[in-house]
Amino acid sequence: MSVERTLSIIKPDATRRNLTGAIVDRFEKAGLRVVAQRRMQLSTAQAEAFYGVHRERPFFKSLVEFMTSGPVVVQVLEGEGAIAKNREVMGATNPANAAAGTIRKDFAESIEANSVHGSDAPETAANEIKFFFSDLDIVG
Ligand code: ATP
Ligand code: MG
Repeated sequence: MSVERTLSIIKPDATRRNLTGAIVDRFEKAGLRVVAQRRMQLSTAQAEAFYGVHRERPFFKSLVEFMTSGPVVVQVLEGEGAIAKNREVMGATNPANAAAGTIRKDFAESIEANSVHGSDAPETAANEIKFFFSDLDIVG
């Protein structure tokens, strides 16, 4: 296992309920380190571009509306096997299927408003980190 970086987003349903700190605490307790972080309002164009792989899915328009419905917190998380570890801490996409003790089991409202995003592979992690951060923003 090697030290990796992954892109995390705390989604609008979580920022609305003031859960940023509670979610960051889950990451830190799992051994992930926040090495870059910014709170921002996504534009429609940014949300459409970020979720471009889902453009043809029936939930795409609703997902873009949700992701632009309030502030998000975008972060780079670093640690041993960070990509898989982050997804483990997040839990399954649908909170109804998420394991006990995961962020989505404990905090998600629905399959769409599921509190967090995490990159799913090394290549997507690199691209998603570049989407939001420059090298200068990341301090490990
Ligand atoms: P993420 O990419 O946000 O980390 P994921 O990889 O678990 O989550 P994806 O299949 O990539 O899930 O879907 C991206 C996002 O689209 C989900 O996190 C969720 O917000 C939304 N989504 C996925 N499936 C559905 C669905 N069936 N109905 C509504 N929204 C959905
Ligand atoms: Mg995904």
